[in-house]
Amino acid sequence: MKFYVKDVQEEVKDKAVIVAATKYFNATQMRDLYHEGITDFGENRVELLLQKMESLKDLDITWHLIGTLQTKKAKKIINQIEYLHSLDTLKLAEEINKRRTSPLKCFIQVNISKEESKHGLEIDDVIPFLDSISTFKNINVIGFMGMASYTKDMELVSNQFQLLNDLKSYVEKTTTYHITDLSIGMSNDYKEALKHDTTFLRLGSVLFKKEV
Ligand SMILES: *Cc1c(COP(=O)(O)O)cnc(C)c1O
Repeated sequence: MKFYVKDVQEEVKDKAVIVAATKYFNATQMRDLYHEGITDFGENRVELLLQKMESLKDLDITWHLIGTLQTKKAKKIINQIEYLHSLDTLKLAEEINKRRTSPLKCFIQVNISKEESKHGLEIDDVIPFLDSISTFKNINVIGFMGMASYTKDMELVSNQFQLLNDLKSYVEKTTTYHITDLSIGMSNDYKEALKHDTTFLRLGSVLFKKEV
């Protein structure tokens, strides 16, 4: 597999952390990506993350879970990862708080595209959710994660990303929570996400395809 890591890094510079979406890659390909300069990997599935982690344990990798985490699978993985991008239920937060041995950096996933299939809290439910987990010592909410509609209409994508930007400012202004990060932007829309000050990009296809 030929990679285009350098091209993407050149565009992103130090504006955001590139998290490679590993659902496209096996452990050997991930090792190659690592040697091209990718140190953050995000998997969707618990079992695959654990397998890949075992195969790559000689490398200094920062592991993220970017896919939906079922509460019943949380205990298998929760002390192995550094970031969770998909916190969106109180039940999951309770389970993490109980099982985790130190604060886990979490993004609250917010439904910005309003598509049925997308996970995440509704915007209006985010602050009440923050309130309900504010005493959970093993959950450290650092940011908001969102997936824009999959479209070439960048105005629509921009509007959806802006919702999270505005939410972040609003929380900063009106509450005592410190939300510093955004995890928006995939291969199709990462340029737009950078314009909206994202600090993490979850990238798959663009790492190995010239055109996405
Ligand atoms: C696959 C995936 C990505 C990256 O997808 P691309 O469009 O190929 O960059 C990002 N986030 C999540 C949650 C994913 O499942």
